[in-house]
Amino acid sequence: MDGKHSIYLLLDETAFHPKGGGQPTDTGFIHGPNFRVTVKKAMLVSEVVVHWGKLVEGVAGEKTILGRLEWDSRYKYMKRHTAGHLFDHCLSVTTGIAVETVNSWLGDPCYVEYGGECPSIDEVKEAEVLTNQFISKGSEVVIKYISYKELFKKASNAPNIKRLRKLEKYRIVTIQGCGSIPCAGTHLKNINEMDGFFINEIKRYSSSFQIYYDVE
Ligand SMILES: [Zn+2]
Repeated sequence: MDGKHSIYLLLDETAFHPKGGGQPTDTGFIHGPNFRVTVKKAMLVSEVVVHWGKLVEGVAGEKTILGRLEWDSRYKYMKRHTAGHLFDHCLSVTTGIAVETVNSWLGDPCYVEYGGECPSIDEVKEAEVLTNQFISKGSEVVIKYISYKELFKKASNAPNIKRLRKLEKYRIVTIQGCGSIPCAGTHLKNINEMDGFFINEIKRYSSSFQIYYDVE
């Protein structure tokens, strides 16, 4: 921070998604009647989103402000993230094994990493075809909040279930026909907002494998 133009901004609430959970930071603008900040980064610090950027003009401090996300990149992350849920499900179907996600990245290049042995090329390709069939049919992405008790009834096969912290309530994301997953990420309203899903590369490791993919 150079003290002259850099600024850290905390708000009561925000639409900016901080870097985390495999999702790159949102960028954009925050402005009020008398100031304008270019947001370069949003960070989660002790459960609070801290916006970091450049004060382009004026003095920040107004009570009512407007935030504007760099939508093209955010929408791309939403598509890739939602497609990731679909592919998790489809890979579980074609391999017959509930997959376990251990890592992911929605920036470039986008990938998901699963624990365990890599399935055959045929199983991965079938999962790609199945993912595209879901996208062509379309389905609403439904969000609900449930308790810890309900979690294991409604999402016991979720690919991230082993990595969850104990919380009072969980945000559950359901795509019809693809099960439910506890997830605080950003999703499309309907999977038909995508035109297609394709796999670019598969990387095998001793106890995991990565699928590099993208969406249209
Ligand atoms: Zn999600």
